[in-house]
Amino acid sequence: MSSKSCIFCSIISGQQSAAHVYRDPNFLVIMDKYPINLGHTLVIPAKHYENLLQMPLPEVRRLYSLVPAIAAAVVSAVRADGFNVGQNNGIAANQIVPHVHVHIVPRFIDDSPDGKWPSRRVASQEELVRVAQKIKKEISLPRT
Ligand SMILES: [Zn+2]
Repeated sequence: MSSKSCIFCSIISGQQSAAHVYRDPNFLVIMDKYPINLGHTLVIPAKHYENLLQMPLPEVRRLYSLVPAIAAAVVSAVRADGFNVGQNNGIAANQIVPHVHVHIVPRFIDDSPDGKWPSRRVASQEELVRVAQKIKKEISLPRT
């Protein structure tokens, strides 16, 4: 199941490039092109589901089972002080790509001196690939 106009589906099928962190038959993990902080990672199911409510529960379980392993690798790779996990559903919730994805955003003690969410920026492809390589090395998946 995929959608022709979906950017994540075209990344999964290889038609569009992205900085890859992890891939298995069910999931792809890539760097967000507009990171809140360097190391901002997206966990994406290979199948196209517009939002979390369309995903069968076993797939939701698998998706969220992968999240801590990726988060641990992100935190270790960029030496973060903490991290946010976020998953937006619908335009009202600021979901930009209508294909389920979980944001893992590394956070640093001093990254929001005004208490606001740090703003997104455009990262260079080199920067994304470099941090993706670092994260890759830190991934250790739990045996299930
Ligand atoms: Zn899609």
